[in-house]
Amino acid sequence: MTRDEIRQWLKTADEARLEELWLRADEVRRRNVGDEVHLRGLMEISNFCVRSCRYCGLRVENTGVVRYRMAEEEIMDCARQAVAFGYGTVVLQAGEDYGIERDWMAELIRRIKGETPLAVTLSLGERSEDEFAAWREAGADRYLLRFETSNRALYDAIHPPLAGRRSDRFALFHTLKELGYEIGSGIMIGIPGQTYDDLAWDIEIFQILDLDMIGVGPFIPHPATPLGRMRGTHAPPAGEQVPNSEAMTYRVMALARLVSPRANIPATSALATLNLAQGRELGLMRGGNVVMPNLTPQEYRAMYEIYPAKACIDETADQCRGCMTGRIRSIGRAVGSGRGDSPNRSRAVQSE
Ligand code: SAM
Ligand code: SF4
Repeated sequence: MTRDEIRQWLKTADEARLEELWLRADEVRRRNVGDEVHLRGLMEISNFCVRSCRYCGLRVENTGVVRYRMAEEEIMDCARQAVAFGYGTVVLQAGEDYGIERDWMAELIRRIKGETPLAVTLSLGERSEDEFAAWREAGADRYLLRFETSNRALYDAIHPPLAGRRSDRFALFHTLKELGYEIGSGIMIGIPGQTYDDLAWDIEIFQILDLDMIGVGPFIPHPATPLGRMRGTHAPPAGEQVPNSEAMTYRVMALARLVSPRANIPATSALATLNLAQGRELGLMRGGNVVMPNLTPQEYRAMYEIYPAKACIDETADQCRGCMTGRIRSIGRAVGSGRGDSPNRSRAVQSE
C-alpha cells in the first residue's frame, strides 16, 4: 500500500468505504493469525520514572503521583496467577525506573522462566544494551517500546532526552533484534501536532520494521502534563491535525493489519478508555488479535495513571479475565492457548 493510499484511508469519512476497510482487515487477520485472541497478563511493576515525556502522567515532574515498585514476591504471585488463569504471556511494564536494577530484574526473569511456562515480555523503557542483553540471557522473550511518532521534530518536542543521551528508539530496535527479542512497537494517535502525513509514514514504518507486535492507541490528555494542557506544540495547517479519536484508532489498527498481516495487534486499554462498552470488541473485529488483561494488584492500579479515567482500574485480576474472555466469545472468537508467539516469521502471508 502506498503512503498516498494510506493517507486516503485515514481521511475518508465515507462509511461504506470504511466498512470495506474493516472487512478487509478482519479477513487478513483471520487468514494470517487465525481466530484465536491471545491474552497477555499485564503487570505494571513500577510507576517510578526518570523521564519527562510531555504526554504521560508518570513523568518525573508530576509530584502528585504516589510512587510504588512491586516486590519480587508480589510479581511472582501475579505470574502464578497468570498461569492459573491460562495466560501464555506476562508483560512486565514500568516507567523508566533505574531502581529496577539489571541483576535484580535478571533474577526475577530467571525465576518466572524457571517456575512457570510463561513467555516474558518486557516494557521498561530505553535501557542500556548491557541490561537488554542480561535480561535476554535470563530468558526474556519480547520487548515492547513504541516509537510514538516517526516525526522526529515532534518526537523530540514531546519526549525530551535524558542529559547527554539522544533518544533513538529505532537504534534500540536494531539492538533488541540482534539480541533475539521479538519486537513490539507502536504509536499514539492524535498527538497535538501530529499530521495525516506523519501518521501515514508511521504505518509504512510498521511494515519496514517487520514488527512482531504493533500497539496503537489514542493519545489521552492528562491534565498534569504539558501536552494535557496543550502547551508547547505548534498546530498543523487546518485539517491536517490527526484527531485522537476512537474512529481514527480503528482506521490505524485496520491499516496496521493490512501492512503487517502476521503481527500481533492488541486492542488496547486506551481504546477501551474511549469506549468501555465496545472498544475492545470493535478493535478485535478491525484487525486486532490480542488483549492484555490487567494482573496488577488493585492497590497499585490507580497509581499507574498514565492518563486519567483509565479503563479497568477498579476490577480484580479475576474480574478482568472474566470480562475479557466474555468479550472475546461474544464476537465468536476463541480464547488463545499457549504463548501466542508472533507468527510473523513462521508463515507465508495470506492476503485477501
Ligand atoms: N516507560 C515505558 C515506555 O515509555 O516505553 C513503558 C510504559 S509507558 C506508560 C507505555 C506507553 O504508554 C507509552 O509508550 C505511550 O505510548 C503510552 N502513553 C503514555 N502517556 C499516554 C497518554 N497520555 N495517552 C495515551 N497513551 C499514553
Ligand atoms: Fe516514563 Fe514511559 Fe511515561 Fe515516558 S511514557 S514518562 S518513559 S512511563
